[in-house]
Amino acid sequence: MGIRKIDYEVCDGCRQCTRICPEDVLRFDQENHKPLIQYLRDCQACFLCEIYCPRQAIYVTPYRERRAVMPW
Ligand code: SF4
Ligand code: SF4
Repeated sequence: MGIRKIDYEVCDGCRQCTRICPEDVLRFDQENHKPLIQYLRDCQACFLCEIYCPRQAIYVTPYRERRAVMPW
């Protein structure tokens, strides 16, 4: 669940996503001038980064990856 991908081919390094994330999930890599998904577990799948990315470079999913363990 949450941010899944940043397409670095499309991202222009504007930093909008790192500013807007309310959970501080993203960091900006000064060397490569691209955002990094640093704390994925903190992502709340709020979609703000995806919505506000001017290049549509971010993909967020509402679905959980881990399957529930069933008792039978
Ligand atoms: S908002 Fe989009 S284009 Fe800007 S740094 Fe983030 S991923 Fe890249
Ligand atoms: S979906 Fe929300 S919490 Fe997750 S990285 Fe994007 S802005 Fe941050």
